[in-house]
Amino acid sequence: MKTIKDVFERYKQGLDKIYETNEIEAITLLVINEVCNFSKAKIKAFPETELSNQQVERLNNILTKLQTGRPVQYILGKTEFYGLPFNVNPSVLIPRPETEELVEWALESVGSRQLAVGSLLDIGTGSGCIAISLKKNLPGFKVSAIDISEDALQTARSNAALNNVDIEFIEADILNPKSHISHLTSHISIIVSNPPYVTLHDKTQMHTNVTDFEPHTALFVPENDPLVFYKAIADFALKHLSKNGLLFFEINESYGEETVQLLHNKGFNNIELRKDMSGRDRMIRCEFSSSSEE
Ligand code: GLN
Repeated sequence: MKTIKDVFERYKQGLDKIYETNEIEAITLLVINEVCNFSKAKIKAFPETELSNQQVERLNNILTKLQTGRPVQYILGKTEFYGLPFNVNPSVLIPRPETEELVEWALESVGSRQLAVGSLLDIGTGSGCIAISLKKNLPGFKVSAIDISEDALQTARSNAALNNVDIEFIEADILNPKSHISHLTSHISIIVSNPPYVTLHDKTQMHTNVTDFEPHTALFVPENDPLVFYKAIADFALKHLSKNGLLFFEINESYGEETVQLLHNKGFNNIELRKDMSGRDRMIRCEFSSSSEE
């Protein structure tokens, strides 16, 4: 393995049992970019570029780790979300592109309502990707974020520092009414959440590099109560959202209608279900018009 071209060849052979060809190419590009500090354009345009022994050794070590199925983002310890850098490790879920669409929707909604200031809460923040990308684009908002995992919060804090944003992080369990979130105001303008929603049935269909490596507390819900987090978050939102406050959820594609119904029954209005870029029911926005303020 001497040139960029050789690396592509070697990674292709070494990973063909785990990933599809286009995924292998994307991973190889990411790894070479990280190890050699070459731009993706340079990697593609100059495949004959020779690499140093040190670079080859690092590329070999990374390939060995990739062959265990460990996601490349955990191996490199970082990823990008909404154009921003994020540290990741197995205490947090790797940010997904679908979640960028949820962030986009929240920003669009704030923009069309011309809200320059307000407060925003992210429930189950993980790496902090939602809270941080929203704060970055809504600097006038006070942003808070909760998570049950202290390790996740530590990662989220490092990401807030990395992106130069000020966010209040709170360790709390949304399923436990006695958790330390009662001090939060009842005037929150926006609540966002991508809570755990994967059922055991879904698990059987998932790639092992998700189920074997990503944090189970962030992913799985009981088969007999798949909407457990949605119920708890909706109840919390009823108490804490301001008049005309908005609630955004990422959802399990199999429970779109059920989640809409749940929110309707709880008294939310203007409930909108949206598909992600793959055409799957993936997110919901709803509003709470009865005031909890007066
Ligand atoms: N979308 C994630 C996945 O497919 C799951 C995220 C979640 O459970 N909130 O792995």
